[in-house]
Amino acid sequence: MVYQGNRITVTMLEDGIANMQYNAENESVNKFDAETNKQFGEAVSALEKADDVKGLIVTSAKSVFIAGADITEFVGSFKKSESEIKDWVIHVNDAFNRFEDLPFPKVAAINGAAMGGGCEMTLVCEYRVMSDKAIIGLPETQLGIFPGFGGTVRSTRIIGIDNALELIATGTPKKPLDALKLGLVDATVPADDLQDAAIDLVKKCISGELDWKAKREEKLAPVKLNQLEQAMAFNSAKGMIFAKANPKQYPAPALAIEAIEKHVNLPRDKAIEVEAAGFAKAAKTPQAESLVGLFLNDQLVKKLAKKHSKLAHDINEAAVLGAGIMGGGIAYQAASKGLPIIMKDIKSEQLDLGMGEASKLLGKMVDRGKMTPTQMGETLSRIRPTLNYGDFSETDIVIEAVVENPNVKRAVLKEVEGLVKDDCILASNTSTISITFLAEALERPENFVGMHFFNPVHRMPLVEVIRGEKSSEEAIATTVALASKMGKVPVVVNDCPGFLVNRVLFPYFGAFDLLLKQGADFAHVDKVMEKFGWPMGPAYLIDVVGLDTGVHGAEVMADGFPDRMKPDYKGAIQHLYENNRLGQKNGVGFYKYETDSRGKPKKTADDATYELLQATSDSDKQTFDDQAIIDRTMLAFCNETVRCLEDNIVSTPSEADMAMIMGVGFPPFRGGPCRYVDQMGLDNYLALCEKYAHLGKAYEAPQKIRDMAAAGETFYS
Ligand code: NAD
Repeated sequence: MVYQGNRITVTMLEDGIANMQYNAENESVNKFDAETNKQFGEAVSALEKADDVKGLIVTSAKSVFIAGADITEFVGSFKKSESEIKDWVIHVNDAFNRFEDLPFPKVAAINGAAMGGGCEMTLVCEYRVMSDKAIIGLPETQLGIFPGFGGTVRSTRIIGIDNALELIATGTPKKPLDALKLGLVDATVPADDLQDAAIDLVKKCISGELDWKAKREEKLAPVKLNQLEQAMAFNSAKGMIFAKANPKQYPAPALAIEAIEKHVNLPRDKAIEVEAAGFAKAAKTPQAESLVGLFLNDQLVKKLAKKHSKLAHDINEAAVLGAGIMGGGIAYQAASKGLPIIMKDIKSEQLDLGMGEASKLLGKMVDRGKMTPTQMGETLSRIRPTLNYGDFSETDIVIEAVVENPNVKRAVLKEVEGLVKDDCILASNTSTISITFLAEALERPENFVGMHFFNPVHRMPLVEVIRGEKSSEEAIATTVALASKMGKVPVVVNDCPGFLVNRVLFPYFGAFDLLLKQGADFAHVDKVMEKFGWPMGPAYLIDVVGLDTGVHGAEVMADGFPDRMKPDYKGAIQHLYENNRLGQKNGVGFYKYETDSRGKPKKTADDATYELLQATSDSDKQTFDDQAIIDRTMLAFCNETVRCLEDNIVSTPSEADMAMIMGVGFPPFRGGPCRYVDQMGLDNYLALCEKYAHLGKAYEAPQKIRDMAAAGETFYS
């Protein structure tokens, strides 16, 4: 035994070959947490002293090779100053460099995911052999940082500048054959042959058949490209990378490129210093804070879903009422995840439409090679379209997705309750109507919950599971489990009009309407909000949702929260709706829509909109700078999110932030509305509320923020 730790051991195999094995005790995966970093340094020290080692393989005893750094530790580490972060990274790198400098050949045997620090561990070896079941990559930029354990230095020297930039900037992991083509690994083998293959490679190095020292030398020296070749590589990579992600919103790829440009002509140790400085700079950006927070929030939300689903009943068959946009989408999603589902409507043409849509989506998967025609047939056969309730007696859950009309919904729910078994769960996909109110029509309100999918169902990850006053824990648990089974991320919320996501979205639309009334140009507002990071501005969003749906929802929300969601004027959305402008669905809303060559609606400007909007805008038009537009709309949005926390509609800032990112596309690099308030600083936020409080209650600071500011608290402290 050369070294024994509870994360890493180094044992001797045969013929002077050592095995450095990662096997974190009581953990499901190996990762580079502080303890592993410490043990790695100790193991390298032990190897420096061991004079009987002729070669070494690096292995993992888990199904994952090494998952990467321990992201939970980033929160604390990134609070340190930039120079402290740089010193910490250089300290960790010291062990990696010393490992690389050991006087014998080293081969990584990559059995499973080698991500981030895991990939960097393999790069300090001279050779890498990969199981055909493994993946490898440097996904750090997705967390707003870039590789800091020598990853940018060694990858550029091993696979070339252009390949390394692509690997780092996109963060996309590579499958074995792709990794082999890139030169990121030297061989791929069947999983069972991995260790033998790694030992074989080390033996070839020891015998001199392979020149491992030359391989190492390449990594220690500057990159072998002349100035012109380097310039070309950087320019083309920048073009490609910046076209994909705006560097102002996602600065990590740009910072990685900046660091690589500075270090490609330096020897290893100097290059590592440059990388460490760049890493520290990236770690201190608000985007890194948001994206690391987002990763942790995502994990928390998934953990909560598991906890919530403990009391779940088995779901072997489901039914959906309504074969419209949502019902059809829900049926498709259930079937594609292997769940048989009955789809009932009152109109046969709607059933045809629902099935047609499912076939279209599945056909695309077949075209892309993601599914065979046989699998497509099997999936489609799981959806049973019907005009009657014949088979409902066996179903475990019925999801109601009929028109958004409380009377229709109450009647339909009451009717179906009489036809299903006693423990069948009923779930409504209503967007706005209170679950407690709908439950009043039922004999067994305890079996009734809200299950709010977002449009388009197959794309949008969020499902709000809504607890009505009488919903049982079993009903919540079963619905949460179903949402997870359907590949969605459930967030459990308490009942109120609009629940969480729409309750927050309507004041945002209200703030948009008020800006238009006072003279703002809707196309300009869209541009500003898209630059802020939203996938679409509010005018475009309401066009996609449908102005009829928006007006309908606004009425429900105005009844629920008249103090801040009932305007005393007629807004632009209402006025356009009254002029039969429904948005994309009838080809004209704020914008005009034409179908492009790929059959997708393409928006164009429409002068008639401006003429129509004269009727709802003030005669003394004001002008607004970009910041005022952002502040007013975001205040309305964030204030309502905080009110949902105050009213216990949602339990934690983490769930609120995740729901807003997954449900309405809040800019991920801003981390969600609570993170946005934190990053602005609560006192600054309060000052903004003060500035705009005269516009109405939606802009007034919620008491919770005042209390938190007074106590010096933040949402994520
Ligand atoms: P839709 O108008 O496209 O479809 C409604 C379907 O229900 C129609 O096919 C209609 O024939 C059918 N229907 C009406 N009465 C019925 C009955 N008694 N039994 C069976 N089917 C009946 O509407 P949609 O957009 O799919 O919305 C459905 C529900 O989902 C609404 O409550 C809506 O608020 C909610 N929702 C919609 C969206 C969205 O973006 N469209 C998003 C989330 C939630």
